[in-house]
Amino acid sequence: MSSPDTRSVHAGEPIPRIEGAVALPIFQTATYTHDDPEASPRYVRYNNSPNHEALHGKLAALAQTESALVTASGMAAISSALLSLLGAGDHLVAPRGLYGGTLDLFDDLLPQFDIGYTLVAEDTPEAWAAAVQPNTTVLYAESIANPLLEVPDLAAMVDFADAHDLVAVIDNTFASPVNLRPAELGFDIVLHSATKYLGGHSDLAAGVVAGPNDLLDGVRHTTKLLGGMLDPHACFLLHRSLKTLGVRVRQQNETAQAVAEALDHHDGVARVRYPGLPSHPDHDRARTLLDGFGGMVSFNLAPQAQVDAFFDALSLPVRAPSLGGVETLITQPIHTSHKNVDPAVRDELRITERFVRLSVGLEGAEDLVDDITTALDASLDS
Ligand code: PLP
Repeated sequence: MSSPDTRSVHAGEPIPRIEGAVALPIFQTATYTHDDPEASPRYVRYNNSPNHEALHGKLAALAQTESALVTASGMAAISSALLSLLGAGDHLVAPRGLYGGTLDLFDDLLPQFDIGYTLVAEDTPEAWAAAVQPNTTVLYAESIANPLLEVPDLAAMVDFADAHDLVAVIDNTFASPVNLRPAELGFDIVLHSATKYLGGHSDLAAGVVAGPNDLLDGVRHTTKLLGGMLDPHACFLLHRSLKTLGVRVRQQNETAQAVAEALDHHDGVARVRYPGLPSHPDHDRARTLLDGFGGMVSFNLAPQAQVDAFFDALSLPVRAPSLGGVETLITQPIHTSHKNVDPAVRDELRITERFVRLSVGLEGAEDLVDDITTALDASLDS
């Protein structure tokens, strides 16, 4: 199965199909008969129902890894993976521009396990080298970072991790496996909030950890202990969504490019951040690394634009946190994903009231561009 679209549809499907069912039914049962005491039991918290197993096969095929594991949310994937890879006395290095929930986890949870971390401002091997300590074991990144949409030098990160014997971990939520498969670059562990593009319809919470069998065994064990497994009904929804991942994400890439270009030409906008625009600082790198620039567009409203008037005048984008769904979602990260981040760090990253993050959905591009530019006009008129 050379095409990711073919893998989305066919990989992981049970052979033979269970009772001939073309769509995998929901195994809404918490436990399973265990007549052979030598065999491993099936139990819902062990993430090993037929729904989980089919998903694991599909997700590993999409990520191009040996193994994959679904979890109850993106945060369950991140926490299970990190608490499996890091132990007391260990240390992690990451860029400072990450999803706010991940930064909160570093701040609030890692110290309780005596795990240290250093956030790095510069995306260079020199800066990472300055941050690495003798006890550093993990290098962590996001492939397209939330919310500034930076694209780190991923190839250099993998080389650096190899040279320093670090496990290279990447959150690939914003790119999705359609636009990037970090394992092909050499990342060891790939994480997703499947609540976003993989689920794609804003109707489920799930996470993914993908990687080689030996590392995944540890993560599976930690997930079992922490209990962050995915419910069978959510497995079913995610499974169904994965079959349309390619067509959804490619359409979102295309519409996001049109929206970013329209924003770039509007007086109500001071700055647009979209990896597909030549003005994006990482545009050349994004062109080399990514198969598509993604469906996320961030921008700063111009000083003369009225923020409330802009939001009030929008009719299509739904004002809500999260991303990757069929409806365009719009949010001010200062009030959502980065609400709990240290205000000094937020200021440094210019995450202010005027900073807006847009998750482009599947509406017609013209309708969306029209709606957003009309709202920008209104923000200038008021
Ligand atoms: N990773 C990224 C990049 C995210 O944006 C988010 C949530 O917004 C998460 C992880 C956490 O995902 P979840 O809400 O599914 O726990």
